[in-house]
Amino acid sequence: MAVEADKLPIFFVENPDGTIDGVAGADSIAPPPANPRLWCHHCNTQLEFAAGASYVQCYLCRTMNAVLTGSQLGGRTMNMLCTVCGTSNLAPWGTAYVRCGQCNTVSDVTHIYHTNVTGR
Ligand SMILES: [Zn+2]
Ligand SMILES: [Zn+2]
Repeated sequence: MAVEADKLPIFFVENPDGTIDGVAGADSIAPPPANPRLWCHHCNTQLEFAAGASYVQCYLCRTMNAVLTGSQLGGRTMNMLCTVCGTSNLAPWGTAYVRCGQCNTVSDVTHIYHTNVTGR
């Protein structure tokens, strides 16, 4: 839809289209921000993920990686099985209390760490 100069003579004179186009063009040339990446903490595969994601599943080893601010390495995660509704909830490794996404029950999960330390 081109604006006809003879229909809007004042607009045409006071606003040189070239200048406005030049500014807008410079803005749109800037490359879109690349998707953030992290490395799988289990197999060290580089994973690309959508900005804003909290967890990224490795497509190679299926390990869940927690997205940690300021870290390029995926965080270890653990699964909390809600004792009330049975929903499995993902949380970053080291979290002491996990809130169930289904029923909002907060569970103390510190026993998971003790079990794993002695089990391995
Ligand atoms: Zn992996
Ligand atoms: Zn629950």
